[in-house]
Amino acid sequence: MSHSKRSNIFLLDAERTTWHDETLWFVRQKRDKAVYATPEFQELRQLASDIKDHTLSRLDFYLQQFEENARRNGVQVHWAADAHEHNQIVLGLLKRHGATRVVKSKSMLTEECHLNPYLIKHGVDVVDTDLGERIIQLRDEAPSHVVLPAIHLKKEDVGDTFHLHLGTEKGNNDPQQLTETARQHLREKFLVSEVAISGVNFAVAETGSVVVCTNEGNADLGVNLAKVHIACMGMEKLIPRLSDLSVFTRILTRSATGQPITTYTSHFSKPAEGKEMHVVIVDNGRTKQLGRPDFRNSLKCIRCGACMNTCPVYRRSGGHSYDFTIPGPIGAILSPNIDMRKHASLPFASTLCGSCTDVCPVKIDIHTQLYKWRQVLGQEGEIPASKKWSMRLLSRVLSKPAVYGLGGKVARQGLRFLPHGLTHGKGYNPWAIARELPEPPKQSFREWYAQQAVK
Ligand code: SF4
Repeated sequence: MSHSKRSNIFLLDAERTTWHDETLWFVRQKRDKAVYATPEFQELRQLASDIKDHTLSRLDFYLQQFEENARRNGVQVHWAADAHEHNQIVLGLLKRHGATRVVKSKSMLTEECHLNPYLIKHGVDVVDTDLGERIIQLRDEAPSHVVLPAIHLKKEDVGDTFHLHLGTEKGNNDPQQLTETARQHLREKFLVSEVAISGVNFAVAETGSVVVCTNEGNADLGVNLAKVHIACMGMEKLIPRLSDLSVFTRILTRSATGQPITTYTSHFSKPAEGKEMHVVIVDNGRTKQLGRPDFRNSLKCIRCGACMNTCPVYRRSGGHSYDFTIPGPIGAILSPNIDMRKHASLPFASTLCGSCTDVCPVKIDIHTQLYKWRQVLGQEGEIPASKKWSMRLLSRVLSKPAVYGLGGKVARQGLRFLPHGLTHGKGYNPWAIARELPEPPKQSFREWYAQQAVK
């Protein structure tokens, strides 16, 4: 189903759409306040972009350096070419430890690899421990935002979910009581889990350590209580030196939620006494994207979500309409790389206003890449037949001034008399669903211009 069709489903609930739009705009405003209060923010942005550019240009070197240093620290490093291999590696590690209970924290990569359904199919009780992630896991939904996975839900939805799954009182929508219920519920899961899986915000090549940023402290709790820690990372998460880290921690949360820094910035360098630590490094299409000069910049993304919060299309269509782990403008660049046919409509889900590019803390040229994807998709024949043929027809009309002039004349007359139902038929003219045409002018621009010249 195309993005616009999925958006229509979200737009059916006008109240929710307005609320979604306003809430994310509020987050965007918080980001602005935090950014304006940091005079060196633009310099940090440039520095972050340069560090990422450099790292991507020598990714093979830094990956090897990371692996060597991690192994020296006693960490076991695994390589996965794709999502399936990643899932197999994780399951293999669980089986080796006879583990059937797992807690998980902060990992969009495991969402991308569909790890949860894979583990559940193999008899593993896997529990997401971020509050937002747990809410949507209970509802059997995907995250709709990279930082605020349950942003599409209201407290009433959460109350209903907790009543159904965690036995809270029907109609209890009190955020404090619901949070306390989640805390108690998750604590039970933390205490019995044999393995903790975490994501990785940054992997430092120089030290072989990984850094996880959370506001709830759940990654720390999970890792410290379980015997085995499995950190799953995309290969683009690398930064060269520990001294580079502060650049990213300063821009990440300011861009995401307007906070100066996350509550917990946890460094995991080696396994604790008697425990094991594993890092799974995943490609899953990243090498392919690295090899596309027009799109490699997208691998600089630090998943702050700022481009989503500012995007007028994302705010009004919801994250699920993108049908991809990473929604919004950056998701629309990353997704066709993985499956061009399935995600062909996403680069068109943009006004190309450039607001995403303006807020991106690592200076990804998001709207330019969206525009480039449209050209690639056109050349690959991955656009709907109606768009393809109408564009071909338009190109012929525009290339012949006489035909263009005649077409304009016919349209100016015809639009005065044609019934509204015919010009605005929703079935064949989606443009007109939310728009009215202006009164047709009496003369063409050329006629008007010629008149002015005579005067
Ligand atoms: S593309 Fe830029 S703004 Fe969007 S999530 Fe990534 S880093 Fe943040």
